[in-house]
Amino acid sequence: MRTLIKGARVLDPGTLDGYKTILIEDDTIAAVLDPSDPVPGAACDLTVIDAQGLVLVPGLMDIHVHLREPGHEYKETIATGMAAAARGGFTAVCAMPNTVPVNDNAQVTAFVLEKARGAKGARVYPVGAVTRGSAGTHLAEIRDMRQAGIKAVSDDGRPVENPQLMRRALEYCHGLSLPVFVHAEELSLVNGGAMNEGPAATFWGIPGIPNAAEAVMVARDILLSRLTGAHVHFCHVSCEESIDLIRNAKQRNIRVTCETAPHYFTLTDEDVKGYDTRFKMNPPLRSHRDRQAVIQGLADGTIDVIASDHAPHSKEEKDLEFDRAAFGIVGLETALPLSLKLVQDGHLALPDLVRKMAKHPARILGINNDIIPGNKADLTLIDLDEKWVVDPDRFVSKSRNTPFAGTAVQGRAAATMVGGTLVYDRHHD
Ligand SMILES: [Zn+2]
Repeated sequence: MRTLIKGARVLDPGTLDGYKTILIEDDTIAAVLDPSDPVPGAACDLTVIDAQGLVLVPGLMDIHVHLREPGHEYKETIATGMAAAARGGFTAVCAMPNTVPVNDNAQVTAFVLEKARGAKGARVYPVGAVTRGSAGTHLAEIRDMRQAGIKAVSDDGRPVENPQLMRRALEYCHGLSLPVFVHAEELSLVNGGAMNEGPAATFWGIPGIPNAAEAVMVARDILLSRLTGAHVHFCHVSCEESIDLIRNAKQRNIRVTCETAPHYFTLTDEDVKGYDTRFKMNPPLRSHRDRQAVIQGLADGTIDVIASDHAPHSKEEKDLEFDRAAFGIVGLETALPLSLKLVQDGHLALPDLVRKMAKHPARILGINNDIIPGNKADLTLIDLDEKWVVDPDRFVSKSRNTPFAGTAVQGRAAATMVGGTLVYDRHHD
């Protein structure tokens, strides 16, 4: 099978930016050609994709996704999550381990990969738990899971509360060359809070979560990374204090990376109105000052990655009193357009956005996704111009819990290719 992608601006930050023709043979990039170059081989069996007006980038990767299978298939399955990712322009996702059962052993890892093999959409890279059942008492079977195919470990959804256990986890994972994804949260400071601590929480009478609940754990795990040399990746960074700490750690060459999610640079706690639980997530939407700090952290390189923290929940789990409703929003089908707004507003150049959504995630996972011959044809075609309005009824995710219904956006994935196969094409949307 041979495919030719013609007419696109091909953008692989740091190496390529220009009009190129990409020849794909089976699942692999076979050649990167100038438009005037002859196409090697016979023309008869060639499928041509006309990509004029589009930008072709290395496949976007979302390194923070909750697929909910096994255990909570009513929220999302591996198959529906993979399809939602593809529709959002992602060629790969990291599946967090807080399923039922938790992915804390090789059997669950193998189950996730087996389900993914049988479905169409983004690739799935399983993340294994740090501790058994993510209960924070004993290390999980990390070596076995690595052999089964995990790309990172995390107890996401919960912190690893015990610093000594975290130290041992970091030492162990360092030896296995696995990054540890940290859900930074000091539970005693959360203290039953349900939104950001500040004037908005006071106004609504909702218990608040201070920035320090996140930043205290960021500080601890920077110190433990420094102690062990292990790669610590901070998930969903939301506040100024965390970003300041990570910026300082990077200046000291401590081995930390971090991600934020689109809602933290798009919304603030002032958007949480009328106990609308679609705006409830963890960490919570922060202040205007924090939102500016997130944008600054993205612009100056402190924040390496934009990830969605896609967290599907059913209507029943969200249609509750604010403090009882589930934390989390879906994000796979809105992450790219919300992030493109950073480019439209002049905060980020397009190549830097591609770094944060494709290149840096790949580097953290130890994957090479350069657009070069011999690499897998995992590619995203982006239409930078299409204006549209977010409509959750059109999501292919099983869940609809988003604060962005009705939001006008510009830009989206036009097509998503995984291993030479189109897993999403907007013409068939
Ligand atoms: Zn988390």
